[in-house]
Amino acid sequence: MDNFRTKLPKLFDLPKRLERLGELAYNLWWTWQPEAARVFGRLDYALWERLGHNPIRFLREIGRPRLNQAAKDKDYLAIYDRIFASFDSYLSQTDPWAARTHPELNNSPIAYFSMEFGLHETLPIYSGGLGVLAGDHLKESSDLGLPLVGIGFMYAEGYFTQRITEDGWQDAINNPMNFDDLPVLPVTADDGARITVEVELPDRAVSLQMWEVRVGRVPLYLLDSNIDPNSDFDKKLTARLYWSDLDRRIMQEMLLGIGGVRALRALGYNPSVWHMNEGHAAFLTLERARELVAAGHTFEQALAKTRKQNVFTTHTPVPAGNDEFPLWLIEKYMSAFWPQLNLSREQFFDIAHHHMPTGETFSMGVLALRNADGRNAVSELHGRVSRKMWNFLWPDCAEDEVPITHVTNGVHTANWMARRLRILLDFHLGADWYNRLDDHDLWTKLDSIPDGALWDVRLHLKRKLAFYMRERVRGRWTDGGYHPVQVVSSGVLINPYALTIGFARRFATYKRAGLMMSDVERLLDIINRPNTPVQIIFAGKAHPADEAGKQLIQQVYRTVKKAETGGRIVFLEDYDMNLARYLVQGVDVWMNTPRRPMEASGTSGMKAALNGALNFSVLDGWWREAFNGHNGWAIGEDKDMDSPHMQDEEDSESLYNTLENEIIPLYYDRDPKEISHEWIARVKDSMKTVIPQFSTRRMVKEYVERLYVPAVK
Ligand SMILES: *Cc1c(COP(=O)(O)O)cnc(C)c1O
Repeated sequence: MDNFRTKLPKLFDLPKRLERLGELAYNLWWTWQPEAARVFGRLDYALWERLGHNPIRFLREIGRPRLNQAAKDKDYLAIYDRIFASFDSYLSQTDPWAARTHPELNNSPIAYFSMEFGLHETLPIYSGGLGVLAGDHLKESSDLGLPLVGIGFMYAEGYFTQRITEDGWQDAINNPMNFDDLPVLPVTADDGARITVEVELPDRAVSLQMWEVRVGRVPLYLLDSNIDPNSDFDKKLTARLYWSDLDRRIMQEMLLGIGGVRALRALGYNPSVWHMNEGHAAFLTLERARELVAAGHTFEQALAKTRKQNVFTTHTPVPAGNDEFPLWLIEKYMSAFWPQLNLSREQFFDIAHHHMPTGETFSMGVLALRNADGRNAVSELHGRVSRKMWNFLWPDCAEDEVPITHVTNGVHTANWMARRLRILLDFHLGADWYNRLDDHDLWTKLDSIPDGALWDVRLHLKRKLAFYMRERVRGRWTDGGYHPVQVVSSGVLINPYALTIGFARRFATYKRAGLMMSDVERLLDIINRPNTPVQIIFAGKAHPADEAGKQLIQQVYRTVKKAETGGRIVFLEDYDMNLARYLVQGVDVWMNTPRRPMEASGTSGMKAALNGALNFSVLDGWWREAFNGHNGWAIGEDKDMDSPHMQDEEDSESLYNTLENEIIPLYYDRDPKEISHEWIARVKDSMKTVIPQFSTRRMVKEYVERLYVPAVK
């Protein structure tokens, strides 16, 4: 397995017959194979759940007697052998899509830089959609056999755990991680010493070590400053995601962009494509130019040469969403860097100069856009917004000619689809459907699934969600310090047979979590009708420094706590990938209410759709492209509004009306067997239109064909 640079440790005491479990624990491939997760879970389901699906801790704690027993259990061994046969054939596949269709990429890896990666709940180095998208990008690259390598950070404290107090206030708990418990392997030289690289900061150099994560066939390297000889302050630079003070923020981005290039060099990589997932990594463009300047080129020549290979994906529809550093800060941190580019201070500022209402800045967005020939937004509408927003960088271009294209986001199907549903698809679509995922014709076969069979899977998944919520609260209640109202607010009164709506995402104000609460009386009337009850499940974290986001949680929680809701409106703590999986698989309707056009794409609705939930969302980002009039519902219209206030009013009116007049009646329109055929017809339509198109299968292929291949040529 020459994709990887590390050796597997001998950490576990395993019977010979089961010794490969250790190898599986260190390759995240298992996370998108529900069958593979079962080779752990079946050994001791309670322990597996208690340890939060962490196979490394699990194998350490399970104990030899149970393993010895399993080593003699024929049923278990059959699953074990099947999984490892499939693991081996996955890793050794010789003609995956990328090798077949784009041999020119074979000897030239793609380096993919991202501030966060959402791969699994046990590795909390992500905060939201940007990270999950990056994680899904790696998984799909592995499936397609793309020679890609990821670069990010190993945050010692991870992203915070969220607790909601009795009065709805978000508490953030930081959890120092024990790296020995995680699927990360130290990157060392042959002599066993850690490989390190350095990045110069004012008056010192910061050393970085690396950890390897195996994502199927794709390696991900995570930078970590928590080593000697760094000062205690510098050791913490990579401790958390998104420091809110600008000093640490810029230092972190220097470590990612500059340190990331050096790390790849130290590992012997010579990438032919450098992909920046958002502007945080944009300093990589300057570091690559510096390499060529050091080899004798002028800065202009160096940029001209490197720019062709750089790809930049923007995710922000507003100028303030990009990192904009004041010039004094750039001076403070980069004054030793520009001489290495043979540039003066002014020339250096000019590279990324941005005139903002708040003053003159050095913009990471401008830096990336100017110095990458491949540029894309993440949905069609976001592309339009981005071309308008950045038109000033191409003053000679008309708005629609600004060279920023779009590649609409997707999700990794295997990672998000429920096992039960996969089994149903295996039966009706043929066992190889996963290989033909982006073939639209394949999905017409969904019509052959009896409505009742699909309805049953949907009910099963909703019961699983209800059961999960209950068990979670049981634990919190038993631990103590929890008020009964918090117990009710966590979903114990949820009826697994009632129409259930999910709303889960970061609590940023533009996502308008409160829209649904704008007329509480009307809402309570709608959800409490005896024959057609409706339940709403909220979840989401606010960034710890985002006071408005935290107030929004509190506002939602106030309504959740009202006795008049009958326990039908729920707020679940600590939204992460595990909870996300239960929610997108278990709810009937996925609701999203961003203030258009602020949701550049959004992806959670795609995860819900591929599990047979129906979307009910503002026509923004991906949903504007996917909605066809009968594969879900729209909130508001496909148009821009002049005032946010008017938009809120119109959207909330539209939301209540559609819910009351269309969604609820349709769900409860049952045949004698209690099935709603019209509902299932929409579910099938939604799955047919969403799964092949809004998958990372289609997305990564598009990146390859439209951005990576041109960069190599
Ligand atoms: C998918 C996902 C997101 C992104 O959801 P949006 O639709 O973009 O809001 C955020 N957090 C988690 C845990 C996710 O799984």
